[in-house]
Amino acid sequence: MEKVENKKEFEKDIVRKMIYIYCKKKHNSKNDLCSECEDLILYSYSRVDNCPHTQSKTFCSFCDTSCYKEYYKEKIKAVMRFSGPRMLYHNPIITIKHLIYSKLFH
Ligand SMILES: [Zn+2]
Repeated sequence: MEKVENKKEFEKDIVRKMIYIYCKKKHNSKNDLCSECEDLILYSYSRVDNCPHTQSKTFCSFCDTSCYKEYYKEKIKAVMRFSGPRMLYHNPIITIKHLIYSKLFH
């Protein structure tokens, strides 16, 4: 049980970091996210919280049976593509690297 919770928190942390990088560069935001990205982050959190497959899958954002609505799906994909490689550069953690690369560049 605790493991699943940790994974959810970890996932939310990654998603948050990626959206921040994206918003800062793409939308010129300073410290706070723009309303569009704020909306996306809240949506992503709610998806993670409600996900019944946390134990068996990777990240909600990468899930093949994605429960993301089309609108958010496209947005989060753009965020991943943009921020993924940048995040790896700053946080070269092998697991994240593997997760992201395997899904982004397959
Ligand atoms: Zn933004």
